[in-house]
Amino acid sequence: DSYLNPHYAFDNFVEGDCNRLGRSAGLAVAQRPGVTSFNPLMIYGGVGLGKTHLIQAIGNYIKSTQSNKFVLYVSSEKFVNQFINAIRNNTLQAFTNFYMQIDVLILDDVQFLAGKEKTQESFFHIFNHLHQSGKQIIMSSDRPPRDLAGMQDRLLSRFKWGLTADLQQPDFETRIAIIQKKLQADGIYIKDEVIEYLAHSVDTNVRELEGVIVSLMAHASLNRREIDMDLARTTLKNIVVDNEKEITVDNIFDAIIAHFDVTMTDLKGKSRKKEIVFPRQVAMYLMKEFTNLPLKSIGYHFGGRDHSTVIHAVQNISVLIDSDKDVEGRIQKLYKHFNRVRV
Ligand code: ADP
Ligand code: MG
Repeated sequence: DSYLNPHYAFDNFVEGDCNRLGRSAGLAVAQRPGVTSFNPLMIYGGVGLGKTHLIQAIGNYIKSTQSNKFVLYVSSEKFVNQFINAIRNNTLQAFTNFYMQIDVLILDDVQFLAGKEKTQESFFHIFNHLHQSGKQIIMSSDRPPRDLAGMQDRLLSRFKWGLTADLQQPDFETRIAIIQKKLQADGIYIKDEVIEYLAHSVDTNVRELEGVIVSLMAHASLNRREIDMDLARTTLKNIVVDNEKEITVDNIFDAIIAHFDVTMTDLKGKSRKKEIVFPRQVAMYLMKEFTNLPLKSIGYHFGGRDHSTVIHAVQNISVLIDSDKDVEGRIQKLYKHFNRVRV
């Protein structure tokens, strides 16, 4: 078994500026493993950007076109565990022999080897053996080799022998294409307007984008209705779209002070000047949106105002968001600042 997931293919890996180099290098390696100068091929990038998909696509391609080749996909975590077990069971030789007979070794998330000296040593020997025998090595990492602290220099320098390519956040057009591809694969139709709304709202990574589509489809089939703007909005609202960090009252004050020309004293004070009332109300609005605080506590943070003041502020800002492009833009920016999606 190669431990490859057959779903990961080049066909369903949407190309964009964000992944062009990695994708084409991957395809070159898939067509001629061990022969190109892309050895090792190192793909790096943040979470959910397609590393596992791409490196497995290479493996699947080779498996289907050159069935005599022994392709193996393994996560670094599993590799470490196998190594530890081999030591414990006195089967290190068998472990090493097994890895040395592979034609295409795909090692996912190598950052996991950081600080694991003995495993790195073992991988170093396997790497050398494979490379010298013209076998292909493909790796992924969540950061570029130069930032892999806790990794032996001799390994790091080998990682750079071949080609290192990064995967970046997909841009708007690529996100659209990814959504369309996904919908097409599931035989589902939704209006362009909704697709654009999703691509606009979820700009963190592909995994989250897919998550949103999946729950959208689930909602639609559960409620026996088509996917329209309304459903998209409510679905997004119910999803935690980020690796969300909790947002505190202080975070919000800091952001407001940075975005508007006001001080903490202004925000907590009694001034009724427009230049101060507006930022103050935005701050209340954001606290209502981003924290679980009761309205009463929110009021407390603004010099002991009562909850009806907070309600008024929230209503006022909500109306402005819908009626005033400038206000909408400012709020959008603040959401962006907090890495949140406004729905
Ligand atoms: P990573 O390993 O970088 O964390 P994954 O490879 O697991 O990310 O990708 C997350 C999800 O996004 C997977 O379901 C994958 O199929 C999908 N995906 C990522 N990039 C693309 C792309 N360019 N086209 C289509 N699907 C993609
Ligand atoms: Mg992965």
